[in-house]
Amino acid sequence: MYFIEKMRAIPRLPDRIKRLEELAYNFWWTWNPEAEELFKDMDQNLWYEVKRSPVKLLRRIDQDKLNELSKNEAFLEKYDAVMKNFEHYLKAEDTWMKRTHPEKAHEQIAYFCAEYGLHESFPIYSGGLGILAGDHLKTASDLGINLVGVGLLYRHGYFNQFIDETGWQHAEFPTYDFEDFPVKPAVDEDGDEVYVKVDFPERRVWVKIWQAHVGRTPLILLDTDIPQNDPEDRKITSQLYGGNRETRIQQEIVLGIAGVRALRLLGYNPKVWHMNEGHAAFLGLERIREFIQNKGLDFRSAVEATKASNVFTTHTPVPAGNDVFDINLVDKYFNDFWPKLNTSRREFLDLGIEKSKDGREHFSMTVLALRLSSVSNGVSELHGQVSRRMWTHIFPDFPEPEVPIGHVTNGVHIWTWLNRDLKILFDKYFPENWHENVTSPEVWEHIDDIPDEELWQIHLNLKKRMRTFLHGRLRRQRMRLGETIEDLMEVDEILPENILTIGFARRFATYKRATLIFKDIERLKKILTDPERPVQFIFAGKAHPADDPGKALIKKIYEISRMPEFKNRIVILENYDMNIARHMVSGVDVWLNNPRRPHEASGTSGQKAGMNGVINFSALDGWWVEGYNGKNGWTIGDNRDYEDTELQDRIDSVSIYSTLEKEIVPLYYKVNKNGIPVDWIKKMKESIKSVALNFNTHRMLMDYVNDIYLKAIGATEFVERDNYEGAVSLSRWEQRLRQNWDFIRIKPNIPRPGLRNSISVGQPIEITANVYLGELSPEEVKVEIFVAKFDEDERMIGFKTYPMEIKKDDVHGEYLYYGKFKVEEEGKMAYTVRVVPNPDMMPINNFISLAKWV
Ligand SMILES: *Cc1c(COP(=O)(O)O)cnc(C)c1O
Repeated sequence: MYFIEKMRAIPRLPDRIKRLEELAYNFWWTWNPEAEELFKDMDQNLWYEVKRSPVKLLRRIDQDKLNELSKNEAFLEKYDAVMKNFEHYLKAEDTWMKRTHPEKAHEQIAYFCAEYGLHESFPIYSGGLGILAGDHLKTASDLGINLVGVGLLYRHGYFNQFIDETGWQHAEFPTYDFEDFPVKPAVDEDGDEVYVKVDFPERRVWVKIWQAHVGRTPLILLDTDIPQNDPEDRKITSQLYGGNRETRIQQEIVLGIAGVRALRLLGYNPKVWHMNEGHAAFLGLERIREFIQNKGLDFRSAVEATKASNVFTTHTPVPAGNDVFDINLVDKYFNDFWPKLNTSRREFLDLGIEKSKDGREHFSMTVLALRLSSVSNGVSELHGQVSRRMWTHIFPDFPEPEVPIGHVTNGVHIWTWLNRDLKILFDKYFPENWHENVTSPEVWEHIDDIPDEELWQIHLNLKKRMRTFLHGRLRRQRMRLGETIEDLMEVDEILPENILTIGFARRFATYKRATLIFKDIERLKKILTDPERPVQFIFAGKAHPADDPGKALIKKIYEISRMPEFKNRIVILENYDMNIARHMVSGVDVWLNNPRRPHEASGTSGQKAGMNGVINFSALDGWWVEGYNGKNGWTIGDNRDYEDTELQDRIDSVSIYSTLEKEIVPLYYKVNKNGIPVDWIKKMKESIKSVALNFNTHRMLMDYVNDIYLKAIGATEFVERDNYEGAVSLSRWEQRLRQNWDFIRIKPNIPRPGLRNSISVGQPIEITANVYLGELSPEEVKVEIFVAKFDEDERMIGFKTYPMEIKKDDVHGEYLYYGKFKVEEEGKMAYTVRVVPNPDMMPINNFISLAKWV
């Protein structure tokens, strides 16, 4: 049949409850349970049918029902209360940022990421990176940080996972109707939709701009699936991490370059540009182009100006995990771009070029981001170390401890991840204002005020709730596979809440070693099927659709889960998402995490678990190196790295079995006369106390502001001064330094070379050195004593510097310098003399990464 037009008729919201629309289009409801309750109350069945999406609900609900609700006193009372809170939140003036940094609170920060995990009903995330980005936006809103997010809006999102009867993962990419998402097209003053464009080889790609709201934080999302574009280009923003290398460079051009253009078009003027992972690094190139074309800067000055306000967070401790492109591909997409920068192809490419071991060159997004940022960081202390080691070759003048990559340890958004019943429990025993003070240790000490029975009762309830949820999922999973009635009935016997339950859920990347626990299957069987003290496991997670080794892990777990001897002791759930995560991190007893150290940059699911009283049992990797305090959980393996991965697997799996047998199982089943596992609860409390305090995103964002954003704001002000004269003189000076750097000579006058083997702490050492500076003046450099500290393996683990002063000028560019220091601590040490550029002339320490050594 021929229809002239096809559309959906949308119910009309009565005036009295009109603002439900605004609430539905703001992710604020996802971390305010009363707001969520409001939507659920409107139509409970529909609420679950639309997978808890308020926008979908409002587009499908019965008109009569809406009219009724607008007259229902009880509903209206709730509505008014929620709206009042919402309003109050959006308008609050008394925020952390304004209180702590009143003079900088207005400065804008742009945050770029390829994925955002805000809620399961908005599937534009794949794993931890996305959840972290979502939590970053939510927390920036809570703290009043003036931040705007930029990302991509994927037509098919990330995939839905199905596991077939052989255990093999299948991916389904639903086509989403963006009208069902809490996003709206950005419009100009006339109400017309706005677009930006990017140039691709011999064509132009139009990008549509969408907007979402995360509390006070706006999120800009970009979409190429519009009729203006060629069919092929419409697919650029089709799938998260989909397609081939060419798709990836296209996506990253849209994210980085169209992202900057979209912000400009919407009137944003960020002082700081945060690249969350290398995917967004092309934004630096677009900003260089802006400086050249709009401010008339030369290439080098534009680079300095861009670098000052860029900051970069790396998330990948494995070389293979870093995004790299063939030079050909970069040539293909940037052939028309670099000539606009008044530079050569080579100078342009050099921004991101890295040589691999075989001498071949490729273009690395991480290298580009590092070279174009004033501050860079990893996401845990250990990951900071690993990153400094990994990227020493980008900073060849610096010893490893000085490589300018610091760390801010990840956290999670408490109001998203702390279970609601626990929050209500804490409300009862914590100081009244604790919601505003989650970074205060004093607040979390009140965990000890909670009676054991009360905490345990709530934990058991959460366990039951998770079980009900999992039963529903498992039944659906088995029904789809056409299993027998008996098989379906069996589901009801799975996961009784009196059995020690261990959860493992995360992406099935091979380094996470999801099947490590099966290394010695007989030993595991004994643990799980002990008649007195049984144990059960729940697994969930997606493998990337192109990752067959990852899918093989899922298959292996599935097969074991269907073996008669493991019946009901191991289950694997399909389609892991934020909803399953929320149930699991609050509903199991133990959270297992056994990545191959040091491959887990941070990990965050264990932080969610820990703050819900689910005890961590984890390899000493990522955040757990800092998180473990001896009382709040258990460790797997030891605090070292292995070359031999098979050996590491064996050692770690043995460590898992023996800790389970000797510590975890006995502790769980040791109950007092009232049936309460008192010692277990003590550990739960330690876990909540320590994890909630240190690994929440409020602490994390405060660190980002204090250690990173404010530094970059300072650097930006340095280069912006006198209409970018700061950047121009900085780049001239840097070139002058680089031209003269090789001529610097340092000749130390060694008192008694090689005679000393040891020295006592507190003893002074004096040193003089003849330093030839050539054309450079002593004001341009700092000459200093560099004292290195080594561990027993002769690895440099730290350093200190002490200034030297000129003792005697010399006519031929040579100066006699003098300095001294006292040996401050015991251990292996060594010292030397070096010349560095004068830090007072740089926007930030190490901004110009030069050092000249003896
Ligand atoms: C928290 C979370 C992750 C990250 O878990 P890791 O242990 O850090 O890998 C991944 N996926 C979902 C859905 C999550 O909620």
